[in-house]
Amino acid sequence: MSDSTEKKRVYGIDLGTTYSAIAYINDDGKPEIIPNSDNERITPSVVFFEEPSEEGKVGNVIVGKIAKESARTDAERVISFVKQEMGTSWTKEIDGITLNPEKVSSYILKRLAKDAKDTAGHDVKDVIITCPAYFGDAERKATIAAGQIAGLNVLQLLDEPVAAAMHYGLNKSEGDRTAIVYDLGGGTFDVTVVAIEKGNVRVVCTDGNHRLGGKNWDERIVEYFATKFAEASGTDKDAILGDADTLYDLQLQAEIAKQALSLRTSHKVSIAFEGNRERVEITREAFDEMTKDLLDQTVDLTQKMFDLAATKGVTKINDFLLVGGSTRMPQVMEMVKEKFASMVDNEPRPFEVDEAVATGAATFGLVKTIQEKVEEKKNDILNAQGAQDGKPVSAEDAQKAEEQAIRDVADDCALPVETVSGINGVKATTVASRSYGIRVLKAGSPVVYNMIVKQDVVPAVFEREFPVSEDNAAKLPLQVFSNNIMEKVASLDDSTTVGDAVMELEPGTPKGAMIRIKFTLTEEGVLSLDATDVTHGKPVHAEFEAKDGLSKEQIEAARKETADLVIG
Ligand code: AMP
Repeated sequence: MSDSTEKKRVYGIDLGTTYSAIAYINDDGKPEIIPNSDNERITPSVVFFEEPSEEGKVGNVIVGKIAKESARTDAERVISFVKQEMGTSWTKEIDGITLNPEKVSSYILKRLAKDAKDTAGHDVKDVIITCPAYFGDAERKATIAAGQIAGLNVLQLLDEPVAAAMHYGLNKSEGDRTAIVYDLGGGTFDVTVVAIEKGNVRVVCTDGNHRLGGKNWDERIVEYFATKFAEASGTDKDAILGDADTLYDLQLQAEIAKQALSLRTSHKVSIAFEGNRERVEITREAFDEMTKDLLDQTVDLTQKMFDLAATKGVTKINDFLLVGGSTRMPQVMEMVKEKFASMVDNEPRPFEVDEAVATGAATFGLVKTIQEKVEEKKNDILNAQGAQDGKPVSAEDAQKAEEQAIRDVADDCALPVETVSGINGVKATTVASRSYGIRVLKAGSPVVYNMIVKQDVVPAVFEREFPVSEDNAAKLPLQVFSNNIMEKVASLDDSTTVGDAVMELEPGTPKGAMIRIKFTLTEEGVLSLDATDVTHGKPVHAEFEAKDGLSKEQIEAARKETADLVIG
């Protein structure tokens, strides 16, 4: 692809809870973040719906820094942290438009793509979007739908820890090594143990809390400011926090204070409410004290991952990498050094805190593209040979064809043969971030039998036969659940519904007839179910739809509806 007009790039997008970023692989084969039109490398994941200038019309949709700032006076028209609602039935109505998480996220994606075009001339079409490892089927489908609504071609979703691991593993030639990635972002926390083995990236284990991030640290400061202000001015704290605009203002000031406390040991703000104005000071010491329980939650999960990795044979960990904006808080590094430095070989260090995930996704995009190209070329070569001599393909032929394909692709992409050969061999494996099971009866009571258990290696396939519980049932409901239980049997109370399917049974199927159930979980986190009636030997294919997912028609309708809205 020496002609740049032919270049079909794959972009990596980190669609974050608080900030998002987009990256690509440049002509030198190096990953690069594309700055936005404010010339910043990350864009706040905040969407502001401006008031319409005329009745019956919709206003401008503004995404990013301006949305975050200009919304101080218009909190009701601002949507932040929408990632936390992905896969749920959350909606908000603004100016007659019903917004769901997919649509709101699509605006953020559109802004990233538009800025890449405006600032660097990139036509963003094919993308890899990252999502937290613990995202289930509904959240993943919602993320893909957001991309489609934004007019993007989502090649694949990639787990954030895998993306960070890709960046860690593939951009150096250091040989085999292991790392623990501690990722504390704006709304989420993930901790992952990864192993790089002969150039392959393997997630050993991963866990997280999707309601724990910088936002929780901000909330503690908001609470502190409101309390101090109420004391000083004699106003009611609940009244302050109950006023949407004041609360929004306090949230903004809290985030600024938190970031200031990463550099200084104290910070002062000025707060106004109902004619009163007070100056309130917060010290780093007080901040650390009021958020210690939050930090402790990350310590517990991190310790758990060290322990789990050890049970999986990974006892030696080389690096401790800190990712995510919130790891800039000095309390995080202090804690990590105190608790975990002795458990790893090298000094814990920040690892491209804001950019590792987007960059890793872009790297993965390149890996995927190259592997597909090599496969395609190899098949072309073999097909041409087969047409010529009509003989079956030998292992030697296949090997030769692959080597030729690697040379051709290297030539096409203007990359060294060794680079393409290296990339072509890369494999990434991950683990299931939750358990998936089916509702069955155990001694007459319903339980969830986990077919795929959290931390199993993915792609995962599991089959098991279950007897039908009644004579002559015409239909057999198959209910799929997910949970965090790392055992085969989980209670319904600990599980949430993923979806269901109905299996049509042959007339006269007796009680005790065996049904074989098969679960498949792909690398992309997509779950499918197959059921076979063993007695009749007749395979029945059953698929289930995730709850709350958008249909193709709904995605298309949303894409049209949001197409004419302007992005600032
Ligand atoms: P991320 O989702 O990884 O972009 O992380 C965003 C979070 O990092 C937000 O809660 C930010 O307030 C927080 N953050 C960014 N910079 C700093 C800083 N210098 N000190 C403390 N927190 C920060």
